[in-house]
Amino acid sequence: MKYIFVTGGVISSLGKGLTAAAIGALLECRGLKVRIQKFDPYLNVDPGTMSPYQHGEVYVLDDGAETDLDLGHYERFTSGVLSRLNSLSSGQVYETVIQKERRGDYLGKTVQVIPHITNEIKERILKGGEGIDVLITEIGGTTGDIEGLPFLEALRQFQHDAGREDVAFLHCTLVPFIKAAGELKTKPSQQSVAKLREIGIQPDILVCRTDRPIGEDNRQKLSLYCNVGVDAVIECRDVAHSIYELPLMLAEQRIDEIVVKRLGLQCEPMDIAPWREIVRRLLEPKVRVRVGVVGKYIELQDAYKSVYESIVHGGIANEAAVEIVRVDAEDLETQGTAQLEGLDGILVPGGFGNRGIEGKIIAARFARERKIPFYGLCLGMQITVIEFARHVLGLKAAHSTEFNPETADPVIHLMESQKSVVTKGGTMRLGSYDCALAPGSKSRAAYGRDIIQERHRHRFEYNDVYRARLEAAGLLVGGTNPQSGLVEIVEVKDHPFMVGVQYHPEFKSKPNRPHPLFAAFVKAAVEKSLRSC
Ligand code: GLN
Repeated sequence: MKYIFVTGGVISSLGKGLTAAAIGALLECRGLKVRIQKFDPYLNVDPGTMSPYQHGEVYVLDDGAETDLDLGHYERFTSGVLSRLNSLSSGQVYETVIQKERRGDYLGKTVQVIPHITNEIKERILKGGEGIDVLITEIGGTTGDIEGLPFLEALRQFQHDAGREDVAFLHCTLVPFIKAAGELKTKPSQQSVAKLREIGIQPDILVCRTDRPIGEDNRQKLSLYCNVGVDAVIECRDVAHSIYELPLMLAEQRIDEIVVKRLGLQCEPMDIAPWREIVRRLLEPKVRVRVGVVGKYIELQDAYKSVYESIVHGGIANEAAVEIVRVDAEDLETQGTAQLEGLDGILVPGGFGNRGIEGKIIAARFARERKIPFYGLCLGMQITVIEFARHVLGLKAAHSTEFNPETADPVIHLMESQKSVVTKGGTMRLGSYDCALAPGSKSRAAYGRDIIQERHRHRFEYNDVYRARLEAAGLLVGGTNPQSGLVEIVEVKDHPFMVGVQYHPEFKSKPNRPHPLFAAFVKAAVEKSLRSC
């Protein structure tokens, strides 16, 4: 087992998670078994209840863990399936240690950050890496933060325990261009590395975010002051078109070779062809389409991260460039549907709460009536059902009991087992469930399989009482859960593509393995755009 720890310096938002993911991708291209995980210094115990405004999307794993969106990057760039063991917050560490103390496990000893908290962290490093060749652990936050200190101290100890040759440190830093001086500055990086060394960590590789070439002089300077080999000073420019160029950019500077040498890894030569093909498809599309995403957190960069990425993957599958048009659902309520005109596809992602619901229903109606490809994810599926019940079945009051508990026609409602739940967090239908696809359905054709597994994160469900009427009117059931019979997929009959899924397909799409329904949705959008020209 070998370990790589990824830390960040100077500022946040340097793309540390993407760097970790890209290095994982490169090591997989050399035939190694890789897993990537994230340690976050915040005190929240459950990232599932954190605001999208502060934290972007909640990324759900197969086992139902609600995690940071960086785990999405890790799963998209590598083939490893992650579990709740691969995401750890300070809050979880402290909770475990305090529970142990309450149980008397520490036999009345004084409980301290060193060794109790740090031991807990080290144990999680060991657990996270079982059965693989290389474990990459990203530490959230920025070097110098008070919150991050116990993690960094644990890493120092870990290297001491495991041995220098099994542990590599990679530090992501910023080399900013200062306009007034007309030059790039290395001082912030020097100081951030000095901070790490104060703790007893010497980085082996420096990944420098910069908006222009750093040049030989700066490379030498960074090498000298930060005590890192000149080859190990990696220039990380902003990628021109797509994040999927990052593995290629890092491979050009032979970062994989540096890691392999440093850790003494036995592996195959690099085969980067799959990433070249992904980038080629992105840079040389054969067609262009415009897809609208109708949501309520539309102004946030990261709230629908996996959805946006999966649309891009659907484009890769069809050699199509997809322009994503972000539509604020509330605008549709106040300004009408002008924003939806000319779109080749419309997608309604997941969500909670009342705001923008009517706007999303307007979008679904527009797509159904105009035969525009429509794809509803989780809440988006529920919207599909509500819209159909209202305007096709004529059930004017049809709603989800989430938004109107008193509705006469609760076409979406709470499962019996959920009705008593009062506390927030961890109370949903979460994680991977089987879904049996209906023979002859669009979904069955897209997946090419009878049984699929998809990830869930919701409380409310399709109400089976309305099933016979909805199906008779043309809202077909495309898939159900084989154990509970719950409806997981709805498909509008006599429509090019109007599919709603109760799960979150966006958590299982990868650039080299686009999700079948995202591929089918973009394909339908391409066909629509060809029809209209
Ligand atoms: N709010 C809906 C529910 O709880 C949908 C959730 C979602 O889209 N993730 O069922």
